[in-house]
Amino acid sequence: SEPVSTNFIHAIIDKDLENKKYGDKVYTRFPPEPNGYLHIGHAKSICLNFSTAAKYGGKCNLRYDDTNPVKEDVEYVDSIEEDVRWLGWQWDKRLWASDYFDQMYEAAVELIKKGKAYVCNLNAEEMKEYRGTLTCAGKESPCRQQSVEENLKLFEEMKAGKYADGERVLRAKIDMCSPNINMRDPIIYRIAHTEHHNTGNKWCIYPMYDFAHPIEDAIEGITHSICTLEFEDHRPLYDWVLKEVGWWESPPQQIEFARLNITNTVMSKRHLKALVDDGVVDGWDDPRMPTIAGLRRRGYTPEAIRDFCERIGVAKSNSTVEVSLLEHCVREDLKAKVPSRNVIENPIKVVITNYPEEQTEMVELENNKEVPEMGTRKIPFSRELYVDGADFMEVPVKKYFRLFPGNEVRFKGAYFITCNDVVKNDDGSIKELLCTYDPETRSGSGFEGRKVKGTIHFVDAKTAVKIKIRNYNYLMVEDENGEYVLNPNSVEETWGYAEPSLAEAAPGERFQFFRHGYYIADSKLTTADEKVFNRIVDLKSSWKP
Ligand code: ATP
Ligand code: MG
Ligand code: MG
Repeated sequence: SEPVSTNFIHAIIDKDLENKKYGDKVYTRFPPEPNGYLHIGHAKSICLNFSTAAKYGGKCNLRYDDTNPVKEDVEYVDSIEEDVRWLGWQWDKRLWASDYFDQMYEAAVELIKKGKAYVCNLNAEEMKEYRGTLTCAGKESPCRQQSVEENLKLFEEMKAGKYADGERVLRAKIDMCSPNINMRDPIIYRIAHTEHHNTGNKWCIYPMYDFAHPIEDAIEGITHSICTLEFEDHRPLYDWVLKEVGWWESPPQQIEFARLNITNTVMSKRHLKALVDDGVVDGWDDPRMPTIAGLRRRGYTPEAIRDFCERIGVAKSNSTVEVSLLEHCVREDLKAKVPSRNVIENPIKVVITNYPEEQTEMVELENNKEVPEMGTRKIPFSRELYVDGADFMEVPVKKYFRLFPGNEVRFKGAYFITCNDVVKNDDGSIKELLCTYDPETRSGSGFEGRKVKGTIHFVDAKTAVKIKIRNYNYLMVEDENGEYVLNPNSVEETWGYAEPSLAEAAPGERFQFFRHGYYIADSKLTTADEKVFNRIVDLKSSWKP
């Protein structure tokens, strides 16, 4: 585990430890609903829960919040575990909330016996009307006056399947005049004649989230139950459930923090699932997706994501983080890790007319300018080369120091090269550039005779490897009204010529394409014969601290 900076949640924990509220225990949990792949917002919650436990020498559970009998998919469960591990965390226990259904049922019976819960037969419309509004107190249900015996009998009948979905609910008896609408006799159990992935057809009644969650936390001995801000005004109900059930001496404490929002990024499983189902993207792990699986395939590193989660900190009010900060973290991490390779996009052929036709020499290039220990490599240089389309202008603009007719530049690692002539095809496009080299200017020779202003990179034409390149743009962009809409150009497929070593690139291997950006060999599409590279992030940063 790594050093963790402090935040308001840690301040609460420090105080609890001082007062021995939970002895010296710190126990957190990450509770995903297994109904989709995890996204970067979940990463924030994962890092917060696991790093908080790690900071205090405590523990963190992975708990599937599966109290809602929707069809869970093993695919989601497997992906969640892979993602948590990939981010670098190890849970203490892996648990299912549905394993506590018996205890939750007992807790509900306990509340009925104490006169703190009752079975209600109002329909959804009446329920809404009786609940009242922020400015108007609610109205008590006629069922509120039923005896304990009557409620026990009705709840038993609910459990036995006597009623259809929606015909009865179990409600907590709290306060229909509470200024907090969540406290106006909330539903704690509902009927759903739906099979559950874990408990099958054992139950046709299921606990509501606000009732189930505090019980799950308490059963596991969680001390600090960290959740997002929208649950803040559910906290009185969380506390009420634990107090009234009364089984636990030091019940857990719910603490809310602001959920992560990022510009140009949709962050809801429902929306992400729709993109997958509608075929807008190529699966949950499409490199444009903000899912952990998508970011992984895109080439983001766990270190960069953890660094990002750490830098944004933990806030008590909602805000939106610039996506450029996430990209900055990725760049910062890759900068010192990833070797550089020459890749040419929109190639223009260069013929060095004074270089011997059959000759090839090897020139040496550093693997990483920032990390000399990463050593050097050799690439071929010969009479025919390719340079990048962006590195030549037939009619140069002001302050253009790269290749143009009559100009001399350095070919990085090789020689000074002068462009003498432009040869055109019949259609007017450029066929090749006729250039000459100066043998005295070889890199490393100590040549001091004159200087050039531009340095460009190249690949040798004979040995160049053709690769596929996918340059990504944001999946979501703002329209003229400032609303996010799908970007019709979220991926640009192109190709390039690479230096020979990229023929050996393994799926998942990362490189800096010199002067272009950071790239990864796509883990699904890269084969022995065809290399497909995803742009992880470009080189320049638009993020300002
Ligand atoms: P979504 O709305 O994307 O489906 P969710 O909150 O319904 O998210 P859960 O599986 O219930 O998804 O989330 C598991 C945990 O992750 C919860 O504790 C939740 O608060 C947290 N979480 C989800 N989204 C974010 C986010 N954007 N920022 C921080 N935490 C998040
Ligand atoms: Mg949820
Ligand atoms: Mg959700």
